[in-house]
Amino acid sequence: EKMNFNPGPTALPDEVLTKAQTGLNKELHSGISILEMSHRSQEYQLIHDNAKSELRHFLAVPESHDILFLQGGASLQFTMVPMNLLSKYNTAYHIVTGSWAEKAFNESQKIGKTQLLASSKHTTFDRIPKRSDWNVDVFNTPSYLHITSNNTIYGTQWQDYEDLPDLPIVMDISSDVGTKDIPWDRVTLAYAGAQKNLGAAGVTVIIINKELLVDHDTERPIMLDYNAHAKKGSLHNTPPAFNIYVLGLMVQWMNQEGGLQEFEDRSNKKSELFYRIIDQSNDFYKGHAEKSSRSKMNVTFKLPTSELNEAFLRKANEAGFVGISGHRSIGGCRISLYNGIEMEACEKLAHFMETFKQVHSN
Ligand code: PLP
Repeated sequence: EKMNFNPGPTALPDEVLTKAQTGLNKELHSGISILEMSHRSQEYQLIHDNAKSELRHFLAVPESHDILFLQGGASLQFTMVPMNLLSKYNTAYHIVTGSWAEKAFNESQKIGKTQLLASSKHTTFDRIPKRSDWNVDVFNTPSYLHITSNNTIYGTQWQDYEDLPDLPIVMDISSDVGTKDIPWDRVTLAYAGAQKNLGAAGVTVIIINKELLVDHDTERPIMLDYNAHAKKGSLHNTPPAFNIYVLGLMVQWMNQEGGLQEFEDRSNKKSELFYRIIDQSNDFYKGHAEKSSRSKMNVTFKLPTSELNEAFLRKANEAGFVGISGHRSIGGCRISLYNGIEMEACEKLAHFMETFKQVHSN
């Protein structure tokens, strides 16, 4: 048995995978499978609308915001966000808390006026900067602030958004979407690739305040224009229909399991399991993130020597635990705990860690 702890794409529940397969069955879909279906058909429109309404319900997205399904990954949003928003706002402020946040900052600089508000790069992104770490109090207005809610590679996460300055917030929620409330009254735009908590790679979710959809800049390439996509209900061109179908199934499953609060509770429980082991291990497992910035989605740590680290990864792999080596930029180990990963698999991995420590410490 393989237990998949990959950082993304990652495990999907069996129930979702089984239902996804029915999408390939012609008989179940009036003779045409979802892969073959016209995106202009009524049948596809139902799948499209269903995915959107399940997601609106799951994330409690208010009517003030629209939901778009686009392609190009979260990475394309590093470009699209400033391209669309810097016509309304004059400055993009960024807080750089990891490699993805840094990429977003770098891309934004290519598009328009972009300023670094704070960064934790000097401490290898082991923390989320605190209010006292940035000294800008008077912002160039109108401007927005871009943050990355969870840092997949370094294993840190914004615990809450209370300290953030009073600016419209743009958030990359790729790796913790669906595990905590989003303050929609402050968040003007949030985006996420689907391949962690929302389904499979190939579709990117953009949740955008409709206030941002009024302007129409005819100079802007149409495929990079939010308003153009919004006006067509994300059907300006051929959508990744099957991926949107899978997203609908995944989100429906999460709604049926109890919704956002349930998955917040589960991710608390799953991550506590591992942080408790790290904290009680006398530095046998040494966590990368500062305690107050720890991620509930990606638990990052190292063993005392590279030999032990390698042995740990090898033994874990032999025992069926897949995808737990750390990102090449920091090494060590990383356990990713997205919503499709079952508690039972987490308990098995936690048990494996306890046993490995007993055998190899002192
Ligand atoms: N942002 C974060 C926080 C991520 O974790 C990732 C991928 O792991 C990305 C952006 C890039 O996403 P994509 O591969 O969909 O472009």
